[in-house]
Parts: sequence; structure tokens; C-alpha cells
Amino acid sequence: MILDGKALADQIKEDIRIKIAPMEKKPGLAVILAGYDPASMIYVRSKERACAKAGIYSEIHRFPENVSEQALIKKIMALNDDEKIHGILVQLPLPKGIDEKNLLSYIDIRKDVDGFLPENAGNLFLGNKAIVSCTPKGIIRLIKSTGIDIKGKKAVVVGRSNIVGKPVSILLLNEHATVTICHSRTQNLSEETQQADILIAAVGKAHLITKDMVKRGTIVIDVGINRIDGKLCGDVDFDDVKDIAAFITPVPGGVGPMTIAMLLENTVECCENITKSKHNIT
Ligand code: NAD
Repeated sequence: MILDGKALADQIKEDIRIKIAPMEKKPGLAVILAGYDPASMIYVRSKERACAKAGIYSEIHRFPENVSEQALIKKIMALNDDEKIHGILVQLPLPKGIDEKNLLSYIDIRKDVDGFLPENAGNLFLGNKAIVSCTPKGIIRLIKSTGIDIKGKKAVVVGRSNIVGKPVSILLLNEHATVTICHSRTQNLSEETQQADILIAAVGKAHLITKDMVKRGTIVIDVGINRIDGKLCGDVDFDDVKDIAAFITPVPGGVGPMTIAMLLENTVECCENITKSKHNIT
């Protein structure tokens, strides 16, 4: 069965619209886009459109490819102090020469809408309350939407990046799955993936996961975004695997829309946290 990420994301965005409609001061998101990466430009436009539809205030700050790190830091500092803004997102990848880790470290922790800062990542690791990065959070919501209990399931995550593979593995562990993390040095990938009740592919290699690597009845979540002859596809050979998987996400229309829905949800959460902390002080 196809797991329709777009339909689920639309439902979540509609719930957000209803929730924030009565709010006098709307949650606000600022996106910083440096350079002209075509995919990033498309993602930023979709985020802008999604915010507008849900009633979230948004600002896009565009900078040329040769922008200095100092100019970006200055913008982040200004947004930290801006009361209209509750979430700050720096669209990655950044142009060459910009130190991503250093730049992100200037974001006010309360406005870390992507959950990329060490404090949020650490809290996730410790099982504490945290802003959870959007793609991993969306993946868990997609799995839960199947109605299948994650507890005790064998989950195999292919990819160990800080933005997808690692955080989704921790979230699955927090849901009491037995988790295996595979990566570029894994010796026999197929042997690992064949064990999976839940298989997450987050690599960035078109059609890496084929039918012979998947157990019948598995939940397959395809995070990859690749292009073959200009056409979008995931890391999973969708046509090959769809008949044996219990559930499978398509690309496009699976994890991508959920990432945006979770960004909106995190913006609302950051706004609520900031408002609550202000009330506690006064
Ligand atoms: P990354 O390049 O940072 O990490 C890729 C991971 O894949 C690495 O950990 C590497 O060890 C592993 N890997 C590489 N070759 C492998 C192989 N042959 N076998 C097993 N593992 C291998 O990528 P990322 O940022 O985690 O993104 C992964 C994919 O997900 C990309 O296609 C990216 O565009 C996509 N993505 C999609 C969304 C979304 O919202 N849909 C969000 C983030 C990333």
C-alpha cells in the first residue's frame, strides 16, 4: 500500500491553520537562503507557500553566492531579536567557504526550528523534550499513520547523517524499536535490510534498495531525493518493491511534504515555547 505523505501533510497543515487562526500574534518563520542552488530555491518557495496557506508569518532573506559569513551572522543576530520571528531556518547547503557549524551556532536555541543545534540534538539523544528536526519527525509520523506499533519492531536505517539517519535512529529507539544503522562502510547491506520490519532509506543513491533486499510485509520509508533524466526518484526501486512492501512512501509525495508540515509544526512549537517563557518571566 502506498503511504501518501502529501495527504497526511495536508491534514497536518490544515490542523495547524485551524489551531492558529484565533491567535492574535501569529507564529513567524525566517528562512535564510544563500546562493542559487536550484533545489534549495524550490524548497524555500514551497516552505513560503506552505506558511502562507497555514497562516504562519514568513520572511525569506536571500543572499548572493559570495555573501560573507559575517553578513549571515549579522542577519541571524537580528532575527534572534525580532519578536515576529519564532523559528530561524538556514537553508542548506551553504555556499563554499561558509562554516555551517559556526553559522548555525549563532541561532537562538529557542528559535532552532530545525533542531540542528547540539542542545536540541543532545536532548533528543537523552530522551528529553526537544525540537526534533523535521525530516526524522515526519518519518515517525508517517510510520505511526499506518497504525502499526513500532515497539519491538526491527528497524533498519540506511544512512547515518546528522540530519536524517542518526536522529531518526534515535527516535525509533525512543519508540522501542530494535535499531540497526547502516552506512557506506556496512559490509553486507542486503543481509541487514532483509531483517527489517521497518526500512528507512536515507542515502541519496537512486534505486539502491531493490526487491531482493526487502522482506515481504515491511514498511519502507524512502527519504532519498534523486534525479534520473530530470525525473525525481528515491533511494528505493519503487516499482520493484511496492508489491512486497506492506507500506511504501513514493518520491515525490512521501517524506518531502511531511518535512514541510513538520517545519510548520515546529514553528508553532517554538512560538508557544517562547510565549510561555515570557509569561514565566513577567
Ligand atoms: P548524506 O549524504 O549526508 O548522507 C548519506 C548517508 O548515506 C551517509 O551516512 C553514508 O554513509 C550513507 N551511504 C552512502 N552510500 C551508501 C551505500 N552504498 N550503502 C549504505 N549507505 C550509504 O545525505 P542526507 O543529508 O542524509 O540525505 C540523504 C538523502 O535524503 C538525499 O537524497 C537527500 O536529498 C534526501 N533528503 C530528503 C529530505 C526530504 O525532506 N525528503 C530531507 C533531507 C534529505
